[in-house]
Amino acid sequence: MKLFSSVLLCSATLLVLLSSSVSGHAPDSASGAIFGFRDAAAENATEARFLAVPDPKLAEEHLRTLTQAPHMAGTPEDEATAKYVAQKFRDAGLDTEIVEYKVWINYPLEISVDITAPEGVEMHGPTREHVDGDAYDEDPRVVMPFNGMSPSGDAEAEVVYANYGTPEDFEKLEKLKIDVRGKIVLVRYGQNFRGVKEFIAQEHGAAGVIIYSDPYDDGWRRGDKYPAGPWRPDTGVQRGSVGYMFEFPGDPTTPGIASLPSLPESKRISPDKSAQMPKIPITPLSYHDAWPILQHLAGPDSPREWQGALPFTYHVGPGPVRVKMHLKQDYQFRTLWDVIGRLRGSDSPGEWVVAGNHRDAWVYGAVDPNSGTAAMLEAVHGVGELLKSGWKPKRTMIFASWDGEEEGLMGSTEWAEQYESELANAPAYFNMDVAVSGPKFGASSVPSLKQFIRDVTKAVPSPKGGTVYEAWQKVDQPGSSSTQSPNEAIGDGRRMPAVTVKSDVPVGDLGSGSDYSVFQQHLGVPSSDMSSSGPYGVYHSVFDNFAWFKKFGDPDFTYEQEMARIFGLEALRMADADVLPYDYEEYGKEVAAYLDAAGKRAESKFGNHALDFNAVTLAAKHFQDAGTKILAKQRNPPRDLARLNQALRNTERALLVPEGLPHRPWFRHAIYAPGEYTGYAAVVIPGVNEALDKGDAERARQQLTVLTAALERAAKVLEGYR
Ligand SMILES: [Zn+2]
Repeated sequence: MKLFSSVLLCSATLLVLLSSSVSGHAPDSASGAIFGFRDAAAENATEARFLAVPDPKLAEEHLRTLTQAPHMAGTPEDEATAKYVAQKFRDAGLDTEIVEYKVWINYPLEISVDITAPEGVEMHGPTREHVDGDAYDEDPRVVMPFNGMSPSGDAEAEVVYANYGTPEDFEKLEKLKIDVRGKIVLVRYGQNFRGVKEFIAQEHGAAGVIIYSDPYDDGWRRGDKYPAGPWRPDTGVQRGSVGYMFEFPGDPTTPGIASLPSLPESKRISPDKSAQMPKIPITPLSYHDAWPILQHLAGPDSPREWQGALPFTYHVGPGPVRVKMHLKQDYQFRTLWDVIGRLRGSDSPGEWVVAGNHRDAWVYGAVDPNSGTAAMLEAVHGVGELLKSGWKPKRTMIFASWDGEEEGLMGSTEWAEQYESELANAPAYFNMDVAVSGPKFGASSVPSLKQFIRDVTKAVPSPKGGTVYEAWQKVDQPGSSSTQSPNEAIGDGRRMPAVTVKSDVPVGDLGSGSDYSVFQQHLGVPSSDMSSSGPYGVYHSVFDNFAWFKKFGDPDFTYEQEMARIFGLEALRMADADVLPYDYEEYGKEVAAYLDAAGKRAESKFGNHALDFNAVTLAAKHFQDAGTKILAKQRNPPRDLARLNQALRNTERALLVPEGLPHRPWFRHAIYAPGEYTGYAAVVIPGVNEALDKGDAERARQQLTVLTAALERAAKVLEGYR
């Protein structure tokens, strides 16, 4: 645990800091200007006024209030947090409404896992999540551990251990001649999205799935467990949705349309026909409860890298231990409350800059997601102070507090589906979810925004001293061994290592797992996500509460202040920029790197020249060159900016494929999608790469053509401006 002194700076100090910090890698570093602005001095002054406002003490108060009770989506406590956020938005002067949607989600009624053989072997539980010295688990509103979107059902069978439940893990079981058909598959959390574990087990004919948290991944093997340290205690369980969000996110009954309360049932698809709903029962356990199941597996020793940190050799089974799962879920259409706060743009009210964070939590959600909500509220506080001084944004700014993210990115997806036509002109979506769990800054975004994010962090002071950018450089130098955050290590991180073609701090690629999905992958709105992370082993458990946060996350709330400043500055700069600050040259370079990697994979799969990458490589080069040319115009802008900005804005959307990806039309982006077999992690140029995964040369050929056309479209949009 590190403690950092407060860095509440007055505006004067900040101005000094700003002028010294805007340097280095910024495109206009020589002139000290801020990329995209004609009057850097005026912008600097506005930003300094904003940066002086976000307050650690107020962030602490927000977090304490938001996390005083468990507030799962659709509960009265969730509605109470919506009202709190709405009031803060109104206090800041935002035009605010609470928007309702009706979505199909489950609460658990009865969940049990029992050992039925061999005789005399018993479960240690299921045990209530509990540690001495933390009273949060005593609240009767704490929902019992369960998986969102898991079906009701009973299953009784021998158990097979399948490590993380990846495709490779199931291949290994096949090699060991272990048949998982009709068995209950026991997997550990980590490496991929939990819904993917369920999806793959279902594909392989399993009867049920149990997911547990191994101490190797986020328990005592990593460090002291809570409350002595930040890692998962014995009884801690990771809840979480297992909906197939890589098919489409949002309400499972309304892909592509908004689940308004007025939507007639006839317009919805029946939940049992929804591609998003898993078919076999799945439920989570703590390692305390999984212990006797694992311990009594016989059969071959598991491959050595499958061994977790429990003190016996892990075997793969099947059996002789048998388990009976009994799940009774209460599925209903339940109400979500998104809070939407607007500031109308003075010049371009039809261009919406959207910045959002979800508010609903599995339990208390101190880190996930309310560390983001508290930071967002302080960003809104700062914008409110600017408003009072007479400032108005040029473009419309929208702050959004999403609901139902945990069940399946529902609040954001339904809202964005409702406003699809308006969002066609949106310059950007900025996301925060697990905003603060420690001191290490990281971000992921579409390539056109990577430099923008680096530039924003050059203007924000770090609690460690210097700027956030400088602190980021120290830990995330290209090639440094510390670029993997603890969350990535346990597979729950939303950021994935980037294919970074620039020698600068790496900004990751967007996969899925948070609310940017609909904006980036369905609507083509350039998006980003960010977090300040540290050792965090209580994800989605009752222990992700205010006491944990105060002890381990951010004791003096200075990283909350940092994130509020960065989040607010992203939105402010984008809303006020004279020239939209995208970098399409970096985008082109990244796509070229993806193609290079895919070309090598294609060769190893199908042999030399089986697939022709020439046309697509030329298209990527064309796109990159167009990006280089327009970057010169952005740095030296003409008097009339409207057409330049329009071309810049339309480029990302030109990368959408109208018919969508094969088998999952909701995902329309030609460059990024969540992987069907990775879930959180991005699959880049997904049409091509997933065809290669399947060994389908014909589909790969067809997808290369689709990709070529998308890149040519984007290049032409950029070139359309001369
Ligand atoms: Zn979250």
